[in-house]
Amino acid sequence: MIFRNPSGAPELACDACGCRWFDRMTDRCYECGEPVSAEARSAFAQALSEWQREIGVALQPDTAVAEPDRPDG
Ligand SMILES: [Zn+2]
Repeated sequence: MIFRNPSGAPELACDACGCRWFDRMTDRCYECGEPVSAEARSAFAQALSEWQREIGVALQPDTAVAEPDRPDG
């Protein structure tokens, strides 16, 4: 499941137990071992990028446009 934390950022939590701690190596919940579905992860990635765009626009209206990737970072 996806929920919003107090600062408004999306968080991904286990559908089975509500825990939001995942082993990112295996994509399983630490608490109950429930696998995290690809749907949940892609939905979370989308929610996160939307949220980042929202706060980016809100905080920095002039610099919200994403910079192109640079090889030297
Ligand atoms: Zn769980």
